[in-house]
Amino acid sequence: MRTVKGKTEDVVIVGAGLGGLSAAMRLAGAGRNVTILERDAIPGGRAGRISDSGYEFDNGPTVLTMPDLIQDAFDCLGENMNDWLSLEPVTPLYRAFYHDDSVLDVYSDVDEMSAEIERVIGSNEALGYRKYVEFVSDLYKYEMKNFIDRNIDSPLSLVSTDLAKLVGLGGFRKLAPKVNTFLKDDRTQRLFSFQSMYAGLSPYDALAIYAVIAYMDSVAGVFFPKGGMHAVPQAMAKALEAHGVTIKYNTEVTTVRRNGDHATGVETANGEFFAADVVVLNPDLPVAYRDLLGVSKWSINRLEYSPSCYLMLAGSTATYDHIGHHNIHFGREWKQVFTDLIDNRALMSDPSLLVTNPTHSDPSLAPDGKQIYYVLFPTPNMDADIDWKTFEPEYRENVISTMEARGYKSFGDSVEVSHITTPLDWQDRGMERGAPFAASHSFLQTGPFRPHNIWGDNVVFTGSGTQPGVGVPMVLISGRLAAERILGKDSTYRSRALRK
Ligand SMILES: Cc1cc2nc3c(=O)[nH]c(=O)nc-3n(C[C@H](O)[C@H](O)[C@H](O)COP(=O)(O)OP(=O)(O)OC[C@H]3O[C@@H](n4cnc5c(N)ncnc54)[C@H](O)[C@@H]3O)c2cc1C
Repeated sequence: MRTVKGKTEDVVIVGAGLGGLSAAMRLAGAGRNVTILERDAIPGGRAGRISDSGYEFDNGPTVLTMPDLIQDAFDCLGENMNDWLSLEPVTPLYRAFYHDDSVLDVYSDVDEMSAEIERVIGSNEALGYRKYVEFVSDLYKYEMKNFIDRNIDSPLSLVSTDLAKLVGLGGFRKLAPKVNTFLKDDRTQRLFSFQSMYAGLSPYDALAIYAVIAYMDSVAGVFFPKGGMHAVPQAMAKALEAHGVTIKYNTEVTTVRRNGDHATGVETANGEFFAADVVVLNPDLPVAYRDLLGVSKWSINRLEYSPSCYLMLAGSTATYDHIGHHNIHFGREWKQVFTDLIDNRALMSDPSLLVTNPTHSDPSLAPDGKQIYYVLFPTPNMDADIDWKTFEPEYRENVISTMEARGYKSFGDSVEVSHITTPLDWQDRGMERGAPFAASHSFLQTGPFRPHNIWGDNVVFTGSGTQPGVGVPMVLISGRLAAERILGKDSTYRSRALRK
């Protein structure tokens, strides 16, 4: 495995996103002097927080899976995650609403989920679901160790018995037809393939190996931290500070100073210089290359990006008893959703959307008796020809009327505080093409073909733009992979997922 050249005592990490924090925990645990420079006033990056009028809004990830990976980062500091963070399982994981008015709850317990499928659809479908769970569990077993949870320097290093097993399982067939071999009902087919959207792909184009994302939530479970998702980076940052790591907030890095391919430190917007043996970059990878390193690479410039999203955070006086913590509202159309978003770079003509109600699990996130609704509409990224500055008010009306049509009565009138993020806002916050889900995970942008996490002698990347990819679990792993580039393979704790 390639590692950085030269000394590794003093490490500067740019960005306190989950990737940067995860890397920091491993490096600090291994005795390095770590300084984190963060542009914002708080840690977490995309897993941020907006506090307004007594509402505590999470403005990024909401579906927390694979908490072992958070524990793994705490392990590296010799800390127990449970002393810093309180996680509760979310049950049901999701509530799915369909255009024919049927409703299906998703449980991670296989027996409970089989019973639910049998109740709503029928016993054959429940049997198919059990076979599907075996399939994704096998995928997870063969993929995690060899393809996700390690630094991959060359595609040749992937040739292994696990690769042969993945081929044998049908992992390199397309996802939707593979899922359909187990599940025959349109509703379960959607429920167990929509996760490819997290990877920026349509289930009709994604490879079946991406069903591993469905394993991570629908089988391994979904959790919610007390205090909301932002409690995760807050806890990580506090533990780091307790272990002597300096985190300087409101500190924007403008340049990585370097002699050729050797970084000597970073410069900040207020003219300070921080010398470093190694620089770890957590900002969106293509932006870091262009704006901080001043390097243009064909392999980065050619990247294609995932769809984006329009996010409405609403503080509301209305309570809707029919919903769960996470709610997926499928439109009548399905394949068309992906044709619209990905092929035509257009808004969904018949939207499928996610509504999270965090106050369902933690009422302390809103004033007494009030609720938070986190409303996420997938949209095309900034490659689309949409002027969000002028179009936003019109789309907001569309979002509100869709919510009302999908069972959120008088939604618009009940909102007393709201915060909107459009693809343009994601772009302004430093995400290439306004794509908060980073470069898509097409075959040629995955595994060894995704941008590598090491550049020059001593620059390392962490975060969703590099390997293994997007989402909280992957980004936490990326922090560990970054640390291994600095410390060597055996010098950090191996992840619990891998030890199993
Ligand atoms: C709306 C939304 C919903 C999501 N939902 C889920 C979900 O439900 N489940 C899931 O698993 N994942 C979800 N994700 C994805 C997940 O949140 C991200 O993949 C992950 O948080 C990205 O972490 P990161 O460390 O790569 O980047 P970031 O969080 O972007 O961290 C980068 C950090 O670098 C800082 N920075 C940038 N430039 C500079 C600079 N020049 N100087 C100093 N600091 C700088 C930024 O301020 C930031 O703190 C969601 C993302 C979004 C946006």
